[in-house]
Amino acid sequence: MLIVMKPGATAKEISGVVARITANGYEPHLSENGDRTLIGIVGTGSTPLREEDYETLAGVERAVRVSAPYKRASREFHPADTLIPLNGIKVGGPRIAIIAGPCSVESREQIIETACAVKEAGAVALRGGAFKPRSSPYSFQGHGEQGLEWLAEARERTGLPIVTEVMDTGLVSLVAKFADVLQIGARNMQNFALLHVVGESQQPVLLKRGLSATMEELLMAAEYIMSHGNTRVMVCERGIRTFETYTRNTFDVNAIPVLKSLTHLPVIADPSHAVGKWEYVEAVARSAIAAGADGLIVEVHMEPEKALSDGRQSLDPEKFAQMVQSVRRIAEAVDRTV
Ligand code: PEP
Ligand code: MN
Repeated sequence: MLIVMKPGATAKEISGVVARITANGYEPHLSENGDRTLIGIVGTGSTPLREEDYETLAGVERAVRVSAPYKRASREFHPADTLIPLNGIKVGGPRIAIIAGPCSVESREQIIETACAVKEAGAVALRGGAFKPRSSPYSFQGHGEQGLEWLAEARERTGLPIVTEVMDTGLVSLVAKFADVLQIGARNMQNFALLHVVGESQQPVLLKRGLSATMEELLMAAEYIMSHGNTRVMVCERGIRTFETYTRNTFDVNAIPVLKSLTHLPVIADPSHAVGKWEYVEAVARSAIAAGADGLIVEVHMEPEKALSDGRQSLDPEKFAQMVQSVRRIAEAVDRTV
């Protein structure tokens, strides 16, 4: 339920509503919408939720039922866009955030060289996996902690913050020591134990949509993280499973405007995993920005044909630079910048 306060409701009236919510065993979630304060009611509570318990309180304009099962993540609860600071920009604001780097951190030289190249082309953050969720146990699994150390060195050299995946609850504190943004991979989107621990950390989270997850399931996963105290979540459309096999996945362009209307959280697009072939990455990236995405996460490798993972979908630095230029023109057409 959402309590809409009257315009100009006093601090005393607001705290009266908050006290009633708390007394009923629920948690209040405050936000602003123009001249009105909104107080969302979340949690399981000790008494059933009834409009009349709140509509009779001083300063309350009305109490409305929120139909979505996610609350903290919903636009109804929190109409204003959430802005997440990253390397001097605010993700979710007018500037498009481009995150780029290799699928996997392969060596110290590789990650430093790639970081310099993507920075030069206009990336604001560096991606790279140290712990890799590979479909086969016989594929390269990542360099683990050593990979995190190399990422930190690349950050020192370039100033680019690091986006890297955490796969295991027991590794969140280690990965969080190095990462600026914790990535939850598609395969772990509904690993609720992991969402819980990441929700208790202080780092922003890039939450990728599961392989066959609905938008509602993605937003419920975001809600898990937010319900444990971490509200800095970016949701990421990275392609979903369909009957099509020519491309690795199917980029769900619908998800971009739909998520933007359902949630206040920034929406990022991953054209690399969505399409799976480097020659289509630029076009899919452009479509994502045209549809309203707040950022891109793109795989870039110095020599894609030699990559230890996802070489087929990786751009080399030159093609990445060209993609940034081409995305910039789309951004301008939709009143954004890169
Ligand atoms: C990745 O970002 O390299 C990755 C494994 O992505 P996803 O979880 O979307 O498959
Ligand atoms: Mn990858």
